[in-house]
Amino acid sequence: MFNSLSDHLTATFKNLRGKGRLSESDINSTIRDIRLALIDADVATPVVREFTGRVRERALGAEVSAALNPGQQVVKIVNEELIAILGGQTRELAMAKRPPTVIMLAGLQGSGKTTFAGKLARHLRDKGHFPVLVAADLQRPNAVTQLEVVAERAGVPCFAPERGNIGGHDSATTEGTQSYGDPVWVAQAGVGQAKVRQYDVVIVDTAGRLAVDENLMQQAADIRAAIEPDEVLFVIDAMIGQAAIETALAFQKGVDFTGVVLSKLDGDARGGAALSVASVTGRPIMFSSIGEQTKDIEVFHPDRMASRILD
Ligand code: GDP
Repeated sequence: MFNSLSDHLTATFKNLRGKGRLSESDINSTIRDIRLALIDADVATPVVREFTGRVRERALGAEVSAALNPGQQVVKIVNEELIAILGGQTRELAMAKRPPTVIMLAGLQGSGKTTFAGKLARHLRDKGHFPVLVAADLQRPNAVTQLEVVAERAGVPCFAPERGNIGGHDSATTEGTQSYGDPVWVAQAGVGQAKVRQYDVVIVDTAGRLAVDENLMQQAADIRAAIEPDEVLFVIDAMIGQAAIETALAFQKGVDFTGVVLSKLDGDARGGAALSVASVTGRPIMFSSIGEQTKDIEVFHPDRMASRILD
């Protein structure tokens, strides 16, 4: 991840470091190199334009600093602007004042939602919370079983609709005419059960499709409206490249997510999704998923990611 971008930028800055003064043409050629590095890394065109525009403006107007040579100053500006497009500050999960905190996951099928549900549960459990998973993905025949396996690995209970229970306890409320096949009902029942049983975080896994689809989005929007989550996390596969922007904007319109999870950051993605999504949607990246195991989760820190790119 980011290897090629990182190499590209490092080579660009190497040329600058020794210079005593930077002419406008030095800056222009540096900006050109940065632009190419970003485009090559699959960063969305509007983000590239905005980023290079800001770096150029700041580099041209840079104050003479006693501590930094002009080349170092440009590196500092690029570092700060990278942090800015990655969302600026680290954003913690918003926890409900009155538990349970409800976290809904949304994203395309295969993006890594279900795996992430387990990782997040384990992460929160390790921090002293009592999370429960809710399987509101009734689209794929295997999804419920998959979430149960994920929950077991994470050491947390799972509300599985067709079983009607949380983690092998008593039956969930099944009064009324709703069937187990209704994901909105399942999500609501899961949150209800968590309240009764005093779990303090509910993580609701929802259905995905291979491409953005109206019905899927409506279903996710209906779930959102019914359970009023404290966070809606949009899980996106970092490998999807330029398609990231279109997908992210569709999910933002559909479910108005509050944060982003970048999954498969352990892969050889060029990094464009990571560098574009926060900037285009204005929503912070909150976690990264870096493998298939339950432990493979990291809180996302924009400053550390920027350093990783520039080191
Ligand atoms: P969902 O359809 O969105 O629920 O996606 P899944 O959680 O089922 O994940 C789809 C595939 O991606 C599975 O084979 C996972 O093991 C794999 N996967 C999920 N997250 C990661 C990750 O961070 N890194 C890697 N390498 N694979 C992942």
